[in-house]
Amino acid sequence: MSAESDPAQRVAIGISFGNSYSSIAYTSGEGKAEVIANEDGDRQIPSILSYVEGEELHGSQAKTQLVRNAKNTVTTFRDFLGQDFKSIDPTPCHQSAHPVPSESTVAFKVRDTEAEEESTVTVSEITTRHLKRLRQSASDYLGKDVNAAVITVPTNFSDAQKDALNKAAKEAGIEVLQFISEPVAAVLAYDARPGAQLADKIIVVADLGGTRSDIAVVASRGGIYSVLATIHDYEVSGIQLDQALMDHFAKEFLKKNKSAGDPRENDRSLAKLKLESEAVKKALSIGTTANFSVESLADGVDFTASINRTRYDLLASKHIAAFVRLVTHAVEKAQLDPLDITEIIVAGGNSHTPKVASAVANAFPETTTVLAPSTSPTAINPSELSVRGAAIQASLIQEFDLEDIEQSSHPMVTVTPHLSHAVGVLCISGEESSGIFHTIVDAETPLPVRRTAIISTPREGGDVLIKLVEGLRHIKVTKPEPKPKKEKSEDDDEDDSDEDESEEEEELREKTWKIGNVLSEAAVKGVKKGGKVEVQINITADLNVNAIFREVGGKGGVRGLLSG
Ligand code: ATP
Repeated sequence: MSAESDPAQRVAIGISFGNSYSSIAYTSGEGKAEVIANEDGDRQIPSILSYVEGEELHGSQAKTQLVRNAKNTVTTFRDFLGQDFKSIDPTPCHQSAHPVPSESTVAFKVRDTEAEEESTVTVSEITTRHLKRLRQSASDYLGKDVNAAVITVPTNFSDAQKDALNKAAKEAGIEVLQFISEPVAAVLAYDARPGAQLADKIIVVADLGGTRSDIAVVASRGGIYSVLATIHDYEVSGIQLDQALMDHFAKEFLKKNKSAGDPRENDRSLAKLKLESEAVKKALSIGTTANFSVESLADGVDFTASINRTRYDLLASKHIAAFVRLVTHAVEKAQLDPLDITEIIVAGGNSHTPKVASAVANAFPETTTVLAPSTSPTAINPSELSVRGAAIQASLIQEFDLEDIEQSSHPMVTVTPHLSHAVGVLCISGEESSGIFHTIVDAETPLPVRRTAIISTPREGGDVLIKLVEGLRHIKVTKPEPKPKKEKSEDDDEDDSDEDESEEEEELREKTWKIGNVLSEAAVKGVKKGGKVEVQINITADLNVNAIFREVGGKGGVRGLLSG
């Protein structure tokens, strides 16, 4: 066994590697994930490298080079890994080193040595250099040589992209213990908190990142997570929000400086405008006003302006609305209704923006908890969710052999069959022709599953018929009753306003059950008044249902068996 894959020699961290920002975290002895600040004091480290006379700058220091040294500054490269040049969209690199084709991969031409001529550096090599810097920062902080990691990737990262990232990490001296998908890492970050209730739930992770939006609908059943639907969109991201502010400030600048040029039409001015607009956007997440201030924005003219949050919300509203549409679309894609969603984790750096979280919350019923800094006092920093989840996962698996980790994450094991409908019971006694549906196993629960439930029997007891049935979730929509038209009277004006109000009243949407197939049924005889029945069900992976019904405290039981 090589030294790197010997679990005893591992020092493992979590890494979130985004197109815009990366983070590193480790889990302390008490199982608490801690996000590590690099030598610049940053926990959100720009995924940027820049070269100045052969010296490599990284993170925030590299980002400032976008003004003076854009050609030798490499940004937004993660998604290019494992892709050929024809498949990539180079647009986000317009104001930095341009991607070029290089054999079957993508590269950047930069002057990364003291020599005059440019080198062609592949995206794999850039990634290795970036990961080396992250590894170094983590090692310096921990005082030990970090050599392994769990790294987060989007749910649509292809095998070729993962292979390329795995190789690049290896070159950086990092053994990738596992790739974990970003939304699952976010769910894990919440579920691993001390005191978290691990109830079965459906969670939407809505990630508004720097260059893309990623939405995932995740079912959590008995501690197993399954991704039910995903959506990815490059047209809705931090870039559009920054652009809205850039356009606003450029117009303000032009209004006040009629003879000056448009800062959007000069590379250096554009870079300054972009950096300051992003800073203003971040400031507006905390404060209700922010100042924009750039020396020599264009044609040597300094520019200072201020903006309040309401104005920014207005400028950003169409992009935020587009993000909300993606979230509701993902729920539809999972064939669910907003009422089915227990929790929404609003993730990604732009989720600090209060309007993003409130707009998402407005599209869902009050029963859905929205986890974001502005909607929940106990929310985790949305920029840190991925990396915290990765660090927690690293601490859980670092002691295992790589082979065992690979086996446990093999698709055969993780993509288990699921129940498409809920399964529960109807209790029927006396003349009652139907009963109330009690869910025992939720839809989307991975199989096999075994559950026990105690059911109250109706009314007077006696002989009770129990049916094990499929429950088909149905949304009952009640339209508000139209108010009867009143005779015209002297209070005409008031009547009108009443009518307007009733028109505005929203329809009522409730989750109800329709009864599907009967899977098994049994009569439990002579149940005591107020008695309870215990139902044990066991559903195998090939959908054989085995049920036992017995009165709590009574003798014997009735068995039912059905093959699916
Ligand atoms: P991607 O891969 O989509 O580029 P990422 O995972 O690299 O994204 P994130 O850290 O999730 O990046 O998000 C970065 C985005 O979040 C940037 O647009 C940044 O401006 C924005 N952002 C970061 N912090 C804040 C904040 N406090 N308020 C508003 N926006 C913020």
